Amino acid sequence: MDLTFSEKETAFRDELRAWLAANPPSDPPRREEGEEANYAWRREWQRQLYDWGWAAPGWPAEYGGRGATLTESAIYFEELGAARVPLPANVLGLLLGGPTLMVWGTDEQKERYLPPILSAEEIWCQGFSEPDAGSDLASLKTRAVKDGDDWVITGQKVWTSGAQYSKWCMLVARTDSEVAKHKGLSYFLMDMEQPGVQVVPLRQITGESEFNELFIDGARVPDENVLGGVGNGWRVALATLMNERSGLAFFLQVRMRQLLDSVIEEAAARDLLDDPVVADHLGELYLKAEVLRLTAYRGLTTIEKYGQPGPEGSLTKWMWSETNQQLTQFAADLLGPEALTAGGPWSYELLRARGNSLEGGTTEVLKNIVAERVLGLPKAR
Ligand SMILES: Cc1cc2nc3c(=O)[nH]c(=O)nc-3n(C[C@H](O)[C@H](O)[C@H](O)COP(=O)(O)OP(=O)(O)OC[C@H]3O[C@@H](n4cnc5c(N)ncnc54)[C@H](O)[C@@H]3O)c2cc1C
Repeated sequence: MDLTFSEKETAFRDELRAWLAANPPSDPPRREEGEEANYAWRREWQRQLYDWGWAAPGWPAEYGGRGATLTESAIYFEELGAARVPLPANVLGLLLGGPTLMVWGTDEQKERYLPPILSAEEIWCQGFSEPDAGSDLASLKTRAVKDGDDWVITGQKVWTSGAQYSKWCMLVARTDSEVAKHKGLSYFLMDMEQPGVQVVPLRQITGESEFNELFIDGARVPDENVLGGVGNGWRVALATLMNERSGLAFFLQVRMRQLLDSVIEEAAARDLLDDPVVADHLGELYLKAEVLRLTAYRGLTTIEKYGQPGPEGSLTKWMWSETNQQLTQFAADLLGPEALTAGGPWSYELLRARGNSLEGGTTEVLKNIVAERVLGLPKAR
């Protein structure tokens, strides 16, 4: 593993860094202005990135990206994190929907759907999880029945992030219940703006509603909006899931490091850096943040060498969620009641971190992957 950037990579980083310094996002709306105002601000930020070709540099040039290499994409996310700017609003479209379409979409589908994902004109959400199907996604029950040239969808999805802003949903539904559960699924591009789709926001512990319940009752999806062929939904869904952690790890590890720096500042302001217990905690967290950064880079090396991601994606996601929870808990212990004041930044971080070990794959499931695929232990039942 060589951690030195090539000349081309350094030039890419410098160009992006200069652009970010010259073109920061506008001031964010105040918290009292609500989540919709915040989302509109992030959407505007994506348009600004888009206008300068920075919305998704990892996309191939023919689809409006820059054809950036994996390392350059990692640099992109690190630099966004380091500049303390938000991720583009249509993050699920850019990171999951677009790349899945590029692999499985027909030419017509790519032409129709990719440009508005990039420009944030059409927001995408991911309709995978259901009340009784999360980790075991293949057991999902939402049904799609053919009716003329359409499919009629009925069922319920849950934890659908950003559904309230979305035009399209990457929806996996059962089209055949006679075959093995993985084989009876199909992947649909469902228009959210129709009477058969009801979006009900779920309030989280932070007070926000990032995600929603989706009640789908007779929603219609034309046959041309099946992605990757009828009965092939599991393979298409895997393409989406494979993309779920790529790149983001670099953004998240930088953000975690910044949070750690803030905790160190708080400890210094309280003259606590010499306290051996505090120093011990900070040292451990620093070490973990650094291991996370290096493991994320090691994942890149694996893809470059072998053409596909290794188990590092599971490892970094697990390490990040555990360390972020440990860090925010330590901040709360250090700051005392001040960290628990509702609406404050530290209480937000502490509460939001609870979901880290669930979203994008639970820690237990990630541990299973590491146990089976890295350590070669017997399969979990
Ligand atoms: C902030 C956030 C945003 C999300 N956004 C989306 C989204 O946009 N779209 C979407 O489709 N979903 C989304 N999710 C859902 C997320 O993908 C699921 O929560 C996750 O897959 C787990 O599924 P579940 O909640 O049904 O839990 P379950 O799968 O029911 O798991 C319950 C518990 O059992 C454990 N468990 C399950 N199976 C095993 C096993 N084989 N071995 C050991 N332990 C096991 C789990 O680790 C967990 O502790 C989001 C979740 C969060 C927290």
